[in-house]
Amino acid sequence: MLKVEDVTKYYDKHLAVDHLSFEVQDGEIFGLLGVNGAGKTTTFRMIIGLLEPTSGKITLNGKPIDYSVTDEIGFLTEERSLLTKLTVKEQIIYYGVLKGMKEEEILKSLDEWLERFHITEYKDRKIKELSKGNQQKVQFISAVINNPKLLILDEPFSGLDPINVEMFMDAIKEFKKRGSSIIFSSHRMEHVELFCEKLVILVKGKSVLSGNLKEIKKEYRRKNIHIIGNVDKEAISSLKGVVSVEETAEELIVKIESDEYIDDVFKIVKKGKDITKFAVEDPTLNEIFLSKVGESYEG
Ligand code: ATP
Repeated sequence: MLKVEDVTKYYDKHLAVDHLSFEVQDGEIFGLLGVNGAGKTTTFRMIIGLLEPTSGKITLNGKPIDYSVTDEIGFLTEERSLLTKLTVKEQIIYYGVLKGMKEEEILKSLDEWLERFHITEYKDRKIKELSKGNQQKVQFISAVINNPKLLILDEPFSGLDPINVEMFMDAIKEFKKRGSSIIFSSHRMEHVELFCEKLVILVKGKSVLSGNLKEIKKEYRRKNIHIIGNVDKEAISSLKGVVSVEETAEELIVKIESDEYIDDVFKIVKKGKDITKFAVEDPTLNEIFLSKVGESYEG
């Protein structure tokens, strides 16, 4: 288990991380979310020991993170750090050896990963000759070659097409099944929503929302009602508790403050014509994120 306890980081006088605490259990996928400059990379660097916290404590299974545990950690950095003049094979051997692995073991695992990511043909090609997406796959392989117990992924999906996003997600879920702790950052809420259970949202280094994704959604009282049919939009807009009424190409989306207003909307919809849909849904993580980040900027 990874434990971050009341961690603060100043760069000179600039406060980058502000009394941050969270835990990532074994077999858990944890999302560290925030806009640019929120403090995600700084937090990751402190976790892997590249930066010293100004105050607070970070432990992995109860022990401080130092050289004795780095073999158990895999890290995908945001600024992609491949040695582009090396071949894929040379690069992965380099990282594997750094993690204390034997060459034979590295090559076996490498072949499996190359096959899985459909890039076996690039094994002896120089990294600079690969496309960006394929370079990212190599970067991912270098982070996981040692089967890490703690996998840290800084923006793992940036620049990937949807097929590759899916491929990375499947690989990450497998590490979860094996009991690894996974912590990743992203600005893309739709990625987070798909597979992360717990999260923290950072604004200017401070946690503004944290916990289990399902519970966060439950506690955030707003709901969205999706309607298809001919209804009196004006009447719905003027109801108490209605935050907004948006019309998309297919449907009407009515945002309400809480579920106590569903019935009032329903009463108007019933009077409408050709109604084929009336569905009450939880807000998306993106909506929650935007409202939390917005509130903090204003407040
Ligand atoms: P992004 O999504 O853009 O990568 P981030 O959430 O990873 O952002 P950090 O890179 O951790 O954010 O930066 C947090 C804050 O600390 C920012 O205000 C940034 O300008 C500042 N900062 C980061 N690194 C340094 C540094 N080496 N020296 C001084 N300030 C820094």
